[in-house]
Amino acid sequence: MTISSHFIGGKACESSGGETDDVIDPSNGQSIQQVTLATPDDVDAAVSAAAAAFPEWSRATPGARSDAIAAFARVLDSRAAELAEVESRQAGKPIRLATEFDVPGTVDNAAFFSGAARNLEGKAAGEYSADHTSMIRREAIGVVGSIAPWNYPLQMAAWKVLPAIAAGNTIVLKPAEMTPLTSVMFAQAAHDAGIPAGVVNVITGRGSVAGQHLMAHPDVSMVSFTGSTPVGQKVMQTASGTVKRVHLELGGKAPFVVFDDADLEAAIHGAVAGSLINSGQDCTAATRAYVQRPLYEAFVQGVADLMSQVVLGPTADPATDLGPLISMRQQESVAGYVERARGYGAKIVTGGQIPGGGLAEGSYYEPTVVVDAAQDSEIVQQELFGPVLVVLPFDDDDEGLRLANDTPFGLAASVWTRDVFRSMRASSEIRSGCVWVNDHIPIISEMPHGGYKQSGFGKDMSQYSLDEYTNVKHVMFDRTAAVRKDWHRTIIGSR
Ligand code: NAP
Ligand code: MG
Repeated sequence: MTISSHFIGGKACESSGGETDDVIDPSNGQSIQQVTLATPDDVDAAVSAAAAAFPEWSRATPGARSDAIAAFARVLDSRAAELAEVESRQAGKPIRLATEFDVPGTVDNAAFFSGAARNLEGKAAGEYSADHTSMIRREAIGVVGSIAPWNYPLQMAAWKVLPAIAAGNTIVLKPAEMTPLTSVMFAQAAHDAGIPAGVVNVITGRGSVAGQHLMAHPDVSMVSFTGSTPVGQKVMQTASGTVKRVHLELGGKAPFVVFDDADLEAAIHGAVAGSLINSGQDCTAATRAYVQRPLYEAFVQGVADLMSQVVLGPTADPATDLGPLISMRQQESVAGYVERARGYGAKIVTGGQIPGGGLAEGSYYEPTVVVDAAQDSEIVQQELFGPVLVVLPFDDDDEGLRLANDTPFGLAASVWTRDVFRSMRASSEIRSGCVWVNDHIPIISEMPHGGYKQSGFGKDMSQYSLDEYTNVKHVMFDRTAAVRKDWHRTIIGSR
């Protein structure tokens, strides 16, 4: 079996420590490949490579960076099938999802950031004081250290790397330990597209070792993290040691609010697709459906009926709708939430089991609908990252919106109504970084993704993310050529 290496300074590198780990296919528990685990020395080598590449890359014209990223998009597109296959295997994604969502999304991101690289914005230069001309420079920050989660490994690599390099930074990315393979392929594709050595570096390894060392590294100027809220808190603490810029995309617990005038069939389909995408391991997945009383019973029934028709199966089979969870540990965690919910009086309408038979080797979990859970129970409040939708009723609009806002998270939400005034009110009162109206999940490269509240801060994708990865510098020129400036009077009189 081959060993997947780090990608540092434009080439594949073994770890200095020689330690490796298995990357597991969660649909059958089999090892796909061995992966090298980074030591702190490996992290130092990657940061050095990124620091060495920074002066030239940050001084390249936007047009030159744009051309290189356009070529990167073409290389990624030419490798779409291979990327989809590896992503599907390492992350347990149905091949349809990897092929139709993860990979084309990544290619489109690269195409978008090729354009965005030429579009750095700021205030016009001008005489904001009569005696001075001011101008704004928007500059790259330096070496970015990035950490990604396992749920969308390739897309997370794209969301971290592309805006950073489009703006002229160089980067060291540590993907999640369980899903490193496509991030290394991504870095190789950048290299093959002609992006200079050291601009994009990937180190594979453990968060507690490589991740921690990268976040603390004195030569890393910014940290960009996507993952859980508790690890995000730790990253923020670590980064404070050298006052790095921090960008955090954390957990979510998205509400799905169905008003009594909604198209019920549309809401049912939206809830099933929105809660089951990526087996529910999606930070924006629909997790809490609040349904206005007149539609409540029919909604629960409709969602349960449709969920029971969803096909669980091997990830390589195009007929499979739902793949496994990422690991046996994740399966145990999801099953634990549902078991405890039964214990405190919630009811399971459909699912709630670990499937047996041919699926028992993998970390599968049945699509599950839970009702009669209290608003303050853990299954309503905590991110469980599985194919589990909790449905709760509400009476009036005030109550629906209050419940939607009642968790520590604020990443995404959806509202379902035909009434434009209701949807306008809901989209302004829900405290989250995205509100969908009559849909749930779609994302696009041109629009930002990021949280409110404990879902973090900072935007991924869109022109807004370029702001995150740049410093704004004010340059002020004296226009008078006077030895004694007018304002000196205040300090030194007429001397
Ligand atoms: P996680 O446990 O927080 O891990 C995320 C990453 O952090 C992994 O690469 C992990 O490495 C690393 N890490 C762990 N400890 C670290 C430390 N002390 N210092 C630096 N890095 C460290 O999250 P996960 O379980 O992989 O992913 C699921 C979470 O991600 C969910 O909460 C989900 O909502 C969130 N998420 C958010 C978004 C968003 O855009 N808001 C998108 C996707 C996922 P190891 O792999 O070695 O543990
Ligand atoms: Mg983890």
